[in-house]
Amino acid sequence: MKSTLDYSSEELQQVLQKTTDIVLDQYARLTEQKGFHAFEPKEVASWFHEALPQESSDPIALLDLVKEKVLDTATGNLGPNMYAYVMAGGNQISTIADFLTSTINQNATKWHLGHAMTEIEKRVVAWTAEMIGFTPEAGGVMVSGGSAATLTGLTVARNVFFREHKLNQAGLFGMKPFTVYCSSETHNSTDKSVALLGIGTDQLRRIPADADFKMDLHALEEQIKIDITAGYTPFCIVGNAGTVNTGAIDDLRGLAKIAEHYKMWFHVDGAYGGLIASLDEMKHLYEGIELADSVALDFHKWLYQPFEIGCTLVRNWGLLRESYFKQADYLDTSLEASNQRLEFNEHYFQLSRNAKAFKVWMSLKAYGFKQIQAMMRKDLDLTRYLEKQIQASADFELLTQSDLAIACFRYLGPDPSRALDEGAIAELNQALIPALEADGRVFITGTRLKGKFVIRACIINHRKSEASIDYLLDVIRDVGSKLIPV
Ligand SMILES: *Cc1c(COP(=O)(O)O)cnc(C)c1O
Repeated sequence: MKSTLDYSSEELQQVLQKTTDIVLDQYARLTEQKGFHAFEPKEVASWFHEALPQESSDPIALLDLVKEKVLDTATGNLGPNMYAYVMAGGNQISTIADFLTSTINQNATKWHLGHAMTEIEKRVVAWTAEMIGFTPEAGGVMVSGGSAATLTGLTVARNVFFREHKLNQAGLFGMKPFTVYCSSETHNSTDKSVALLGIGTDQLRRIPADADFKMDLHALEEQIKIDITAGYTPFCIVGNAGTVNTGAIDDLRGLAKIAEHYKMWFHVDGAYGGLIASLDEMKHLYEGIELADSVALDFHKWLYQPFEIGCTLVRNWGLLRESYFKQADYLDTSLEASNQRLEFNEHYFQLSRNAKAFKVWMSLKAYGFKQIQAMMRKDLDLTRYLEKQIQASADFELLTQSDLAIACFRYLGPDPSRALDEGAIAELNQALIPALEADGRVFITGTRLKGKFVIRACIINHRKSEASIDYLLDVIRDVGSKLIPV
């Protein structure tokens, strides 16, 4: 038995070289990367079905196995053929940042456990506030993603809004129910957060959306009045800065006004679209985001970061600390040399945390925000291109006109002279999703818009081009036409 887990310097050199070769190979074969590899769960499980390994194995052989079974069969998030959900392609410098972060194994929890990482995270919080035009006083924290970012925002909201009830001590027992408002289009992470916070989804009011999938402000105000009359305390409005279905951006200024009038908290779910507020030509769509009490953002979306990283911003650091600080002798800071230290464990639920902000910091330094913004613009332009191609094709139908980079559409069949009826079109498009998965050349999923099933393309990858978009439509035509009985 060796006395440590470390390899010798020569051995490590070989392992790193092998890793480098594998990484370079991934990028060399990017354009041919399939969207999806159709395997049965049983088969994939069989690759890993073995007893707990007791003995060491050759790391080079292990990397060969990893390349074959894990990397080369990976779902094509990196490449240009991914359109499902909101899957950004990552970026090279952040991959290296993650590797370096793990190398020094910093714990981004207490300042003296990672001083550079703590200050970098504070810097990234300030940069993020600047990107979306939020207050420079903002406090914030890196979290696992948009879901955690909304949970964090609503946790602070609940604790700060009902400050006099001391909810962290007393819990919700004996309180009158309070209500949360969002639109029919809001992501289900709001439902999950409301459930986890003990508010209960019965108290979540889903307000209807208009024809553009934006919250109907009149209906919102009516519902607030109804709830007040019924004895509820309207507490929080969740606005969308880009819905996941269609990229709809609510009238954030209008929502902020209503929140102010009824003295409510205003949270913005900007997980999908929030960062687009940084583009001058798009800013007008986001007016009012600067008035939010809390904002949820996702950096593994439009900052092209590898998973996982999201961010919650609130108006100042004190709000986070008020919600999360809990004294403990083993974390006491009173004996430390300086009281200028910001302790992330006092501003968030996690104690041990990886230093997520480091990859954002490195990529902003390496590429510059202008270049990242150029990639955002490319995604928006390619979506406009896709919409144009669909509208110009007799065999496709466009169902949304998004401000962001999501297009919802249907395939109508190969022969416009033999028009399918509504039922057949619905059936064809639902059949297309598993058929495209089995084919694997592109990966795309569907959703429902006001009950109607549609194919949904989300374009959020700096490696896409017009040729990728043409390829998407060609593959759908090819797979779809074979689903039509002749
Ligand atoms: C992606 C998304 C979420 C969830 O974010 P995760 O990072 O997947 O947890 C929440 N809201 C919206 C609008 C999203 O697009």
